[in-house]
Amino acid sequence: MTQLNETHDPALSSWLASANDANIGFPVQHLPFAVFRRAASQEKFRPGVALGDQIIDLAQLALRQPFSGLAAEALNTCTGPTLNALMALGNRHWSALRLALSQATRAGSVLQAVIEPLLVPQAQAEYSLPAQIRDYTDFYISIYHATAGGKISRPDAPLLPNFKWLPIGYHGRASSVVISGHEVVRPVGQARPASAGQPPSFGPSQRLDFELEMAMFVGPGNAQGKRITIDEADEHIFGVCLLNDWSARDIQAWEVQPLGPFLAKSFATTISPWIVTREALEPFRLPFNRPATDPQPLPYLMNESVKKGGVYDIGLKALISTEQSRAARHEPALLAHSNLCHAYWTLSQLITHHTVNGCNLQPGDLIGTGTMSGPNPDQALSFNELSVGATQAVKLPWGQERKFLEDGDEITLQAECTKPGYPRLSFGQATGKIRPAVG
Ligand code: CA
Repeated sequence: MTQLNETHDPALSSWLASANDANIGFPVQHLPFAVFRRAASQEKFRPGVALGDQIIDLAQLALRQPFSGLAAEALNTCTGPTLNALMALGNRHWSALRLALSQATRAGSVLQAVIEPLLVPQAQAEYSLPAQIRDYTDFYISIYHATAGGKISRPDAPLLPNFKWLPIGYHGRASSVVISGHEVVRPVGQARPASAGQPPSFGPSQRLDFELEMAMFVGPGNAQGKRITIDEADEHIFGVCLLNDWSARDIQAWEVQPLGPFLAKSFATTISPWIVTREALEPFRLPFNRPATDPQPLPYLMNESVKKGGVYDIGLKALISTEQSRAARHEPALLAHSNLCHAYWTLSQLITHHTVNGCNLQPGDLIGTGTMSGPNPDQALSFNELSVGATQAVKLPWGQERKFLEDGDEITLQAECTKPGYPRLSFGQATGKIRPAVG
């Protein structure tokens, strides 16, 4: 169910001019969180909220005690190097802080004089992981990605029968999650033998790929043995960011049977620095439209709220640059675009399914959606799909071709929410450049 309040009023504007600039995409209706400091400084990393082309330093704001009640309690958790304490507080606190920040940054606010000196330009900032991520889970909820990948590896039965009954997921590796801008070293590993009876090949991955996903940061957790119902699930979602699940397809193909992905995925996962709160996304909800010819979700995964607005309308883009394109000063090329609305399962269903067996989630856990490919060929958000399993080269506008990533290639993931009559919300971006394998 959509929960709109005064912070979503599209008519609101800010005393900060850049917040009212749609090209920048950080209006007063947005207010996403990150952990930052001035680049190349010795400052401590601390939480901030984006406003226009600036960041409000929340650690400094907390010292000035501008808010009261739940908003003050929430702001007081924003002084350390992570957002875990804020995430643990829950929706009443998050919502109170959002309202206080919204009122403080609107045109005419008396708090302008308090906040203005605390602004740090985004152009001068660097970011760290916004939370201590103790567990990272990755789902697989695009039926288009699952079908396209399945056609390559299992042409006779591309989609496994469980896909339409439960959100497929696996437990990822939290230690190797990195923030946007971190360079990714090409992994080394085993790949399938060239012919039966031969040993596997060993060396740098020859099929290094990206996957454009979205991810949730978990808010309050649940006690082990006690599940989060579908009615409660939204209140456990702090916010959403972009995620690149780097994947070595050759390593994956050899190791994945029988237990699932392991070293093909665990070397690096890149996330974008800004966490867009679930409350900021409320205006972008869409109904859950499962085709009538498909099985309907089991009752534990459905309620009125999912049916009426469980889906989010978030536009997604993947771009590439190469050493050659950057030297020639070409703009990064668009590889594909899609939308989170193509997901087969909702974010709330992922939370509920994850805990249905009594598994305990914790504040700051990261939960990926899986590659968010859409129904059309230009909505394929991995090279494995774009090159149809390396059978067709992807032509780049400056004349190069790619089937998978080469050293020096840089992938940039972007997302935004747009709708008529509402300010544009940017998610910023998640970038990562490939470095050669270490011998
Ligand atoms: Ca994935």
